[in-house]
Amino acid sequence: MDEDEFRRWSRRAADWGVDYRASLRDRPVRAQTKPGEIAATIAAAPPERGDGMEAAFRDFEADILPGMTHWQHPRFFAYFPANAAPASVVAEQLVTAMAAQCMLWQTSPAATELETKMLDWLRQALGLPEGFSGVIQDSASSATLAAVLTMRERALAWRGNVEGLANLPPVRIYCSDQVHTSVDRAIWVAGIGAQNLVRIPVTGHMRAMDPKDLEAAIRADTQDGFVPAGIVASVGGTSVGGTDDIEAVAEIARRHRLYLHVDAAWAGSAMICPEFRHFWAGVEQADSVVFNPHKWLGAQFDCSAHFVRAPEDLVRTLAIRPDYLLTHGRDGIINYSEWSVPLGRRFRALKIWFLLRVYGLEGLRAMIRNHVAWSAELAGRIEVDPDFEIVTRPMLSLFTFRHRAPAGVDADRHNLDLLEAINDDGRIYLTQTRVDGHVAIRFQAGSFETTRDDVLGAYDVIRDCAGRL
Ligand SMILES: *Cc1c(COP(=O)(O)O)cnc(C)c1O
Repeated sequence: MDEDEFRRWSRRAADWGVDYRASLRDRPVRAQTKPGEIAATIAAAPPERGDGMEAAFRDFEADILPGMTHWQHPRFFAYFPANAAPASVVAEQLVTAMAAQCMLWQTSPAATELETKMLDWLRQALGLPEGFSGVIQDSASSATLAAVLTMRERALAWRGNVEGLANLPPVRIYCSDQVHTSVDRAIWVAGIGAQNLVRIPVTGHMRAMDPKDLEAAIRADTQDGFVPAGIVASVGGTSVGGTDDIEAVAEIARRHRLYLHVDAAWAGSAMICPEFRHFWAGVEQADSVVFNPHKWLGAQFDCSAHFVRAPEDLVRTLAIRPDYLLTHGRDGIINYSEWSVPLGRRFRALKIWFLLRVYGLEGLRAMIRNHVAWSAELAGRIEVDPDFEIVTRPMLSLFTFRHRAPAGVDADRHNLDLLEAINDDGRIYLTQTRVDGHVAIRFQAGSFETTRDDVLGAYDVIRDCAGRL
């Protein structure tokens, strides 16, 4: 590909992206293809001779695009959002063009220094106190893994990495039954073992672990020869927004000298609005906090903000310094690859910089406040409809509901059928969860481009589809 061609196709791709975004309202949100349908269009073997950009681009539009679910769609109400605000898309285009590896300060000083500044901007935006340092991880799962490894090493006096866990006393970690599956996987990967993840049942409408049960479990484990290492607390759990009482949990962590990690992967973005910070009151006492600007805030995936109180503990757990990576004679520099499991790192701070400069905190706050208000409005409509019931009330912009099944029809089956009908209809996209053992349909409003009409219009689509069942 020569320079002219590179220019032409880069422009075409940029134009395509803008047209694509403009066309989203006319597309079904969830891909409407059957399993294997896309694979069947792809050649079985790689080409020996290239056949050029024109053909590749044409086949992309014809064969690949129909198999895409449109995450930037204004009526995407499934899972949690993965917002890529236009300004962050443009920043990613610049990053893609430079394609730098930002593992060490010297492999791109601007990337490291901007990352330090952006994490401090985000810290201030969330109202976290000074004293937290930050790093961008690829995902909240990676941040939580890093936190679990740090808990383990701190509790074992830094012997785990050296000796392995076989001859050390078993480490225990505590969480509620509402935490994300990334906690389970972190426990597996850290070699701690699923049986040493102690799940404290939740109580109350916030679905918070009971602090008394938490403390009792820690005391019992200590007596039984386990080494309690840390607590993973949840703010805005993925299923229905389960949120622990961080103040109470932090108090227990302090009393037992346990590490406290707060997972606010989704809800953290809302903390740019002071009126929502009561949901994580006490967070300033945590040892680490993770939230995903790549979810609600609008920084294109991947971009997970990981704040830590003692970066030296994280670095002591994860840093490895072979000769070929040493950076000589530079005092006070940060090599962020020492703060994470992967060595290679993309330049992720640039999209945060663009995002915050272009929309400003006020712009982003307005978006989040709208989503929360519209979601409550929709929940209100569903609540007064006798054919539906609200299962869990809105936590920020997330709530769950159920359609009343006709007599003799299993309610779980009925609601899964309704969900399938809604997603086949294509105008909106929703997902399911289980609450107290029963299927509930999740709704969250969070798309960057969504409007009040989009959110409230979901009611008509849901009613329509239920009527047609
Ligand atoms: C989405 C989510 C995660 C996982 O985020 P990744 O960045 O995809 O790893 C973890 N915890 C909660 C509460 C989440 O909502």
